[in-house]
Amino acid sequence: MTDTTSQKTDVEQFDAQAVNAAWARKPLYEARKKIFPKRASGQFRRFKWLIMLVTLGIYYLTPWLRWDRGPFAPDQAVLVDLANRRFYFFWIEIWPQEFFYVAGLLVMAGFGLFLVTSAVGRAWCGYTCPQTVWVDLFLVVERAIEGERNQRMKLDAAPWSLDKIAKRVSKHVIWLLIAVATGGAWIFYFADAPTLLVNAVTGKAASVAYGTVAVLTATTYVFGGLMREQVCTYMCPWPRIQAAMLDEQSLVVTYNDWRGEPRSRHAKKAKAEGKVVGDCVDCNACVVVCPMGIDIRDGQQLECITCALCIDACDGVMDKLGRPRGLISYATLDEYSGNMALATAGGTTGINPDLVRNMDGSFSDKVRHFDWRIIFRFRTMLYFTIWALVGIGLLVALGARDRLEVNVLRDRNPQYVTLSDGSIRNGYTVKLLNMIPEPRVIFLSMEGLPGATMSITGIDQPEGRSFAIPVDPDKLRTIKVYIRQPLENVEPGKAQFRLIAADKGSNESDVYIATFDAPEKK
Ligand code: SF4
Ligand code: SF4
Repeated sequence: MTDTTSQKTDVEQFDAQAVNAAWARKPLYEARKKIFPKRASGQFRRFKWLIMLVTLGIYYLTPWLRWDRGPFAPDQAVLVDLANRRFYFFWIEIWPQEFFYVAGLLVMAGFGLFLVTSAVGRAWCGYTCPQTVWVDLFLVVERAIEGERNQRMKLDAAPWSLDKIAKRVSKHVIWLLIAVATGGAWIFYFADAPTLLVNAVTGKAASVAYGTVAVLTATTYVFGGLMREQVCTYMCPWPRIQAAMLDEQSLVVTYNDWRGEPRSRHAKKAKAEGKVVGDCVDCNACVVVCPMGIDIRDGQQLECITCALCIDACDGVMDKLGRPRGLISYATLDEYSGNMALATAGGTTGINPDLVRNMDGSFSDKVRHFDWRIIFRFRTMLYFTIWALVGIGLLVALGARDRLEVNVLRDRNPQYVTLSDGSIRNGYTVKLLNMIPEPRVIFLSMEGLPGATMSITGIDQPEGRSFAIPVDPDKLRTIKVYIRQPLENVEPGKAQFRLIAADKGSNESDVYIATFDAPEKK
């Protein structure tokens, strides 16, 4: 019998382990760590309340604004009328072929976002993104029902009781009501809001309306109430893209460790012992207010939405301690690096905050502060110029656009017909667009093509070279036009002529260069 345990082999043994070794494997999905943000107070929090009120007000109230466009057009100020393929925005009406205005607005929104990000970082995320605004709103409800951070944490850890059930049910019911109102407000942009509201509550609205409300209710409730910061961290692509728009001069929320470190909870004692201490008293006030649950003192992080609530929290602490505000502040990387170099004697020592201060404790003149002029640099000016040019182009196009159009499609089969008297006839489908909310008579006439006459199906007028055609307000009228040219005038091949649509009342007109087809040889 062979003893396999003591048997020595010549096979080389490697000191290695699989990168996904079973013992080191982490779960693919890490469970969410609950965050209980404390309510912050300060200038940025007040600014965020204001933005929240304005954005929510715009979203919920806009469909209810009225705008008188006369008896032939809807009176809703902002309306995406899918059924009639119109977009109304106060005094502006966009027809489907004018959709480039909307594309232009989207381009402007894109460059506006680039501009804001390059100047003040993720201000969109921190202040105006719907996810941020609705999470803030849901947190208001949560605080009102479950209390401040400590009470919420206590409630969360407590076993289920009648009180806990009542609070949780109330919170989720109000969240759902907000979610329904959010989904409901959205559909009002697509139909007359008062009519749709009545139809919706009486069960007479279209099923697509109920479906849309259901989907938006679910997404608002789940994203705003349940997932919260996970949407920003894991689902939104913007945190990844924005890095390309930031540079050393972009303002970002920054922990100024050049004055804060070494942090100490017992600064007086440490100082008495002759230790160097910074301004940070390690109170974690900046961490508990953070809606993302992160610590800005760990440096720039993908999760940071630059909501600036940690600035408010830290400023409050500095006020209490009688130290200058701004331990956490909006700062550029350039500014931060300069101050860091000062505090570390050009990188030769660890952080020594005494190096940035004078003997009396005030900051040295060498400390760099925010200079608003850096906002006006090449990158921001470039974004602003493109944004402004697109805007000006849209305004000019909007001011100069025609509200009367004629479009012509020549019959291709047959290209022409030879009538019994030898004359040649071509058929055309003509579309007259009356793009104002008033009825008008459009005069359709032709220029060129000697001797030719028009006849129009459905218009009770004798053959001629000019026709008066009534067109309903804000409508397109399609007519069938036949043009006949006597044999003696017919030129072989193709001949061009002009079809002119004119409104004599407003002096508006539009011209279409059309082609008349005849046989190559008479
Ligand atoms: S670190 Fe500060 S700025 Fe960033 S998300 Fe948290 S509180 Fe807002
Ligand atoms: S709030 Fe200010 S002092 Fe308190 S831990 Fe944060 S950075 Fe330090």
